Amino acid sequence: MVSSRVKLINESATVSMSNKAAELKAQGKSIYNFGIGEPDFTTPARIIDYSYKFAREGGTHYTPSAGIMELRQKIADKMKVKNNIDISAKNVLVTPSKFSLNLALYSIIDPGDEVILPAPYYVSYTDIVKLNEGKALITQTDENYEFDFDQMKKLVSPKTKVFMLNNPVNPTGKVYSEKSLRQLSDFIIENGLYLISDEIYEDLVYKGRMFSPGSIEEMKERTITLSGFSKSYAMTGWRVGYMVASEEIIKASNKVQQQTLTCAPSVSQYAAIDALDDEDDVVSMRNIFNKRRELAISLLREIDGISFYEPEGAFYIFPGYSMNKSADDLSMELLEKENVIVTPGDPFGAAKHFRISYATSEDVISKGINNINEYFKKIKN
Ligand code: PMP
Repeated sequence: MVSSRVKLINESATVSMSNKAAELKAQGKSIYNFGIGEPDFTTPARIIDYSYKFAREGGTHYTPSAGIMELRQKIADKMKVKNNIDISAKNVLVTPSKFSLNLALYSIIDPGDEVILPAPYYVSYTDIVKLNEGKALITQTDENYEFDFDQMKKLVSPKTKVFMLNNPVNPTGKVYSEKSLRQLSDFIIENGLYLISDEIYEDLVYKGRMFSPGSIEEMKERTITLSGFSKSYAMTGWRVGYMVASEEIIKASNKVQQQTLTCAPSVSQYAAIDALDDEDDVVSMRNIFNKRRELAISLLREIDGISFYEPEGAFYIFPGYSMNKSADDLSMELLEKENVIVTPGDPFGAAKHFRISYATSEDVISKGINNINEYFKKIKN
């Protein structure tokens, strides 16, 4: 029998959709897939070449558990320059990003401790909290996804330990302003909480400016900043990212890493060393995403029956609708009738919403959103 801890967590929300999509593909249908949460690009060739060279030279062994020192140092330098967080290599742990979310919670919460999540949240957060025996407290945000501090004040109890933020946000594409993040930081300090700041989409900001709350002096010790190479450098399959925190938290997380993962994959760490010198590819991929974002926004605006926040970052749009239908049913109908895959909003903490990932070609965006438009027209008639 599996443990009660594992029984509590869910499988990926998109399994039945993927099965259905595979069935339709086997029937020869073209599927317009907006379900994918990863860049469609292949990792830039120079990064692959660099990693290959090190692999050929013998870099295929265990590395120190916290990561190769040269990489930790380079990440520390990047944090100083890009995020305005003045730290040393000792404050860096190299680990896959989703694992770092687990390490962070495992290191700072005890069973029953509470974790505040502003909704809509990244789909894995609630399950990661459960897996680490915490309790998720959901706080709703307003129509522009700004924080509701009155609601948050009412939620907090002596058991509340962490506020978990993703910025830019998956699934809404929201990028929080420095002002909002300073207000959030005041709330965190006043209530003696930790902040887990998941900044994995930090390089995919098209409007506004990225601000890292860990750069605020009084937040430094209580912020765990997470980022990685998956989204910025199209490196999802390399499984490499990092956590930046106080030495105490890094040491605790490193102990857990030693007894679980041992270390991040060596070849991926070498790739990451080169990636940090490859700003050109980040900029060119961001420009392509931005063109797709503008195209998707303009096409979605033409659809009667949906409304959405215009995203400033990441590669998602999160339309809402008012008709009386669950997002699961709507998504399945979009697939069956219009060959379009979207992700239902409920697992992100938002009913009557669906997520569109525009990390796909302009052709798919045009044809797929046209089909979504057709669906809404037919429903109305
Ligand atoms: N955080 C967020 C908000 C994400 O969207 C993702 C990936 N979808 C992750 C963390 C995990 O990233 P990785 O695949 O690099 O572990």
